[in-house]
Parts: sequence; structure tokens; C-alpha cells
Amino acid sequence: DRSPDEGGIVVIGLGRFGCRLAGSLAALDHEVLAIDRNAEQVQKWSAQLDRVVQADATEEGVLRQLGVADLGRAVVAIGASVEASVLTVLALVELGLPQIWARATSEKHAKILGSVGAHHVIFPEAETGERVAHLIVSRMLDFIEFGDNFAIAKVRVPQVLLGRPLRELAPAEHYGVRVVGAKLPGERFRYASDDTVLAPGSMLIVEGSIDQVQSFAALT
Ligand code: ATP
Ligand code: ATP
Repeated sequence: DRSPDEGGIVVIGLGRFGCRLAGSLAALDHEVLAIDRNAEQVQKWSAQLDRVVQADATEEGVLRQLGVADLGRAVVAIGASVEASVLTVLALVELGLPQIWARATSEKHAKILGSVGAHHVIFPEAETGERVAHLIVSRMLDFIEFGDNFAIAKVRVPQVLLGRPLRELAPAEHYGVRVVGAKLPGERFRYASDDTVLAPGSMLIVEGSIDQVQSFAALT
């Protein structure tokens, strides 16, 4: 049996999103097969990526000929054409790919991709929009929400946590957030421990409920 975590990854649709994705996967040392129906896009990316092929990915037979059925993972990065995106996912489902990731550009598009058989649906515009909203209205420097009201954020150290070991300052008791990482000025991020003593200018990684993380980030 094929393990989905092994073997190459096919990226379909080399728009702005697909290109960045394919480039990042290649940088992470994964074998990438990139497919786009547009000759110009194929030409443009053939120097940067190992394998770039011009083909219409909605055609199951074409995908089979390209050896896509032997790969473990596929990402459908087509956005604007819902029809092309859905038909491509369908073709990949028919080929039996164990891990199909598909990009949605609307809530309805996301629902359709799920019903057709995509295993993971991503909605970058919605996800990034929500994340950036949090960054704009709060003092958080970075933020990830995991659902069930749980979040992790990068924040500047507030005055109240300076100068004494975290054991004594007990941020979990007082603010409801756990300090998991700390970066002292001029140093790298490290795991925070009970003995960690923070200096002005330190950065922290904290986890907790969204409200607690946000209130903590608002402390100065
Ligand atoms: P981005 O926001 O990532 O730039 P987009 O939504 O603006 O994407 P799309 O029209 O979705 O752009 O197209 C992304 C890429 O997918 C384009 O390069 C297009 O040629 C390619 N594409 C569209 N349909 C197919 C298809 N059936 N087979 C292969 N590639 C396709
Ligand atoms: P997205 O990827 O977020 O869907 P897009 O790049 O496809 O965005 P754009 O053409 O950039 O779409 O437009 C995004 C929105 O910004 C549109 O609703 C458009 O009406 C609006 N917009 C464009 N120019 C201006 C402007 N000068 N003033 C106000 N709104 C504008």
C-alpha cells in the first residue's frame, strides 16, 4: 500500500498561490510535479521547478498518463474556475489519490470540494483575512487559531513579566496563558522554563484561549 506521506506531490494550477506552494514544497526537498494548462505559466516556472507539464488536469486519462495515480498527494490550487477545480478533484478521486488538498475561493466552493471527495479543503483568502484582522486590532505579532477557542501567539513581553523567574510570576495563574517559548534580545527562541527570566525587548510565544491570549498581548 502507498503511504500518503511518501512519494511526490502533484500541484495543479500555477497561479500566484500554486507557484508559491510548489516552490515551498521543492524547498522542503519534496519531489513536485507541477501541472498547468497555460503554456506561458509552464514556460515561466520550468526553470524554477523540476517537472512542469502543460496539461488540462480535468482529464483523468491525461493525469494517469503523467503518472499522477502513483503519487501520494495532490494539491488543486486552481481558484477562479470552480468548474475546473471541481472536475480536477473528481479526476483525482477517480485515480484513488490518498491525500487530495483543494483550494476553495468561497464557502460554497469549499462545500462542493468536500462533497466531491477532497480530503482537505483550504481557503487561503478567508484564513489570511481572519488572521490579519486579529493582528491589526491587537498587539500580537503573529497568531494561529486552532478551533475550540485555542490559540498560540507571538507577543512582546509585558512589563509585568520582567526581571523575575516565570516560576514566581506564574503567568498561567494570573493571565491564563502559558508561556511556551521566549526569545531574549539578541538570542534565538528557546523553550521557556520555570527558571526563565525575561528582559525588556524579549519576545514570547504564549498559548491559551483566544480572549486570554489577546488580553495578555494588550498588557504593556
Ligand atoms: P491565484 O490567486 O493563485 O493567482 P487565480 O484564482 O487568480 O489563482 P486561476 O484562474 O484559478 O487563477 O488559475 C490558477 C492557475 O490554474 C492558472 O495558471 C491556470 O492556467 C491553471 N488552471 C486552470 N484550469 C486548469 C486546468 N483545467 N488544468 C490545469 N491548469 C488549470
Ligand atoms: P481577492 O484575491 O481578495 O479576491 P482580487 O485581487 O481578486 O482580490 P481586486 O481586483 O484586487 O480583487 O479587488 C478587491 C476589491 O477591492 C474589489 O471588491 C474592488 O472593487 C475593490 N477595489 C479595487 N480598487 C479599489 C479602489 N480604488 N477603491 C476602493 N476599492 C477598490
